Amino acid sequence: MKKILYKFLAFTFLTSSFCSKIKADENKNKEIFGIIENFTEIMGKAWMKDKFLKTIRMPQTILLDANSRVYGSCSQRDKNLKTIGGSSYCSSTNTIFLVKEDVDLFYELNDSSGLLYLLAHEWSHSLQHAWLSKIPHPAKELQADCLAGRFVTMFEENIDRKKILSLAKISLHMGSKIHGTGNQRAYALLTGLGVIDGTCSIPKMKDLAKKPGNANKVISLMNLRSASNDININKSPHKKSFGELIEKFEY
Ligand SMILES: [Zn+2]
Repeated sequence: MKKILYKFLAFTFLTSSFCSKIKADENKNKEIFGIIENFTEIMGKAWMKDKFLKTIRMPQTILLDANSRVYGSCSQRDKNLKTIGGSSYCSSTNTIFLVKEDVDLFYELNDSSGLLYLLAHEWSHSLQHAWLSKIPHPAKELQADCLAGRFVTMFEENIDRKKILSLAKISLHMGSKIHGTGNQRAYALLTGLGVIDGTCSIPKMKDLAKKPGNANKVISLMNLRSASNDININKSPHKKSFGELIEKFEY
C-alpha cells in the first residue's frame, strides 16, 4: 500500500512540475509574440506615415524554425543552403525571416530589449533596401546595428544602463567578416543607443568600418573601468517619440 502511495505521490509531483514548465513556456511565447506584434505594428504605422516609404511595400515578417526549408526564396543566399539557418532579411522578396531559436535566445539573453535588437536590426535592412542604399559591408551591418539601437530606445524608453551594457555585450560576441568585429558592432549599437556620441549616417558607419581599431575603446566601457572622452557611461540613452521615429527614418 505504501509503495502505491509513493508511486502516486511521485507521479503527481512529476505531472505538476511538467505542467508548470508548459505554463511557463506558454507565457514566454505569449510575451514574445506580443513584442513582435507590437513592434511590427508600430514600425508599419511609421512606415506608412513616411512620405517616401509609403510608396513602397513594407516588409513582411515570417517567424519559422531554424530547420524550416525555404526553397528559392532569396537570390542572395547560398544555393546549397536549403534551410533558413538564421534570422535574416531577404531583399528580393522584402521578407524578414525570424528564426524562433534566435528569437528565444535574444529574449533569454536580454528580455524584451534583446528581442527588439534582433527585430530592429532586420527591419533596418529593409529600410536600407527601400533607400536603395549602396553602403558596402561591413558598414551596412554596422548601420543596421546602429539603427537597431535607435529603435530599441524608442520602444524601451526606460531601458537602464545595465540592460544597455548587457545588450552591447551580446553584440561583442557576434563579430564576422560581413558584420564587422564584435567591438565594431558594440560601438555601432552603443552609438544608436545614444551612449556614444554620433549618428548612424553612411559616412560615420563607413568610417567605423574602415578603422576597426577605433572601436576597441568599447572594451573599457564593457569592463566599467573607465570611460573615454566620447563614451559616457553615465549618459542617459536617447528618448525619442514616435513622431521622431518617423522623422529620423532617413539617415
Ligand atoms: Zn544584418
